[in-house]
Amino acid sequence: MITKSTIQKEIHLSGVGIHSGKNVDLLLRPSSLGGIIFRRTDLDNLELTLDPKKIETKSSTYLVSEECKIQTLEHLLAVLYMFGIDSLIIEINGDEIPIMDGSASPFAQAILNAGVMSLPDGKKSIKIIKPSSLGENDAVFSFSQDSDFKITYSIEYDHPAIQKQELSLSLNLENFIKEIAPARTFGFLKDVPALRAQGLAIGGSLDNAVVLDDKTVISGPLRYPDEFVRHKILDLIGDLSLMGSPLIGHFKAQRAGHGLHLKAIRFLLNNPEFWAYI
Ligand SMILES: [Zn+2]
Repeated sequence: MITKSTIQKEIHLSGVGIHSGKNVDLLLRPSSLGGIIFRRTDLDNLELTLDPKKIETKSSTYLVSEECKIQTLEHLLAVLYMFGIDSLIIEINGDEIPIMDGSASPFAQAILNAGVMSLPDGKKSIKIIKPSSLGENDAVFSFSQDSDFKITYSIEYDHPAIQKQELSLSLNLENFIKEIAPARTFGFLKDVPALRAQGLAIGGSLDNAVVLDDKTVISGPLRYPDEFVRHKILDLIGDLSLMGSPLIGHFKAQRAGHGLHLKAIRFLLNNPEFWAYI
């Protein structure tokens, strides 16, 4: 039986929000309550429980309630999912998870340092038992049966530094830490004015994103030649974690983004004939 897990000790992190541009402190606290609970310490400890029905996307994945929101959840959520951590209190004094270096490695390293602790409660996995696919414009998302948690992602950008990239792997904690967590978020210089006009990417910089001009990468060396598609896998893991259980199946995305990821998650949650709890 697999069990619910939390962290062994508190983790404190701080940094800028890539969209808000504001500095935030993040305190991850061990919990035995069995869910992921966000607590806005700047709003009288207002609590929001992670729930796929309260998720929206716009350049990032965020949790919303009537009173507040917390944006850019996906990199932290991907790390929690891969470590099997599903019982945690996340205290934050702002509305966005810090972007750190643009990757998930700082979160993964912090959890490795703190340690993971099993809780007595068991948990079930979600196994895909019937394939299907969904589309949106030229993007496609499909899922099918597999004995592992497998992701295949392909992207295609009309940009000389990216072009076509595809990566397929069966994920475990070890290859996630080595192959996926270090891949940084990326953005195009030409999109910055429009994003900033919408209040997005205000905290984005050459230190927390792979930045591309029309021809090349201007933010220094890439961590992998295909860092872009690796980061898309990271984002997808974070979004898929909203299913609330470990996943067994093959998830394939082509030219997708947070919007289609979320559409697929809602489809799965609304159509339980495609999966089974095991
Ligand atoms: Zn991302």
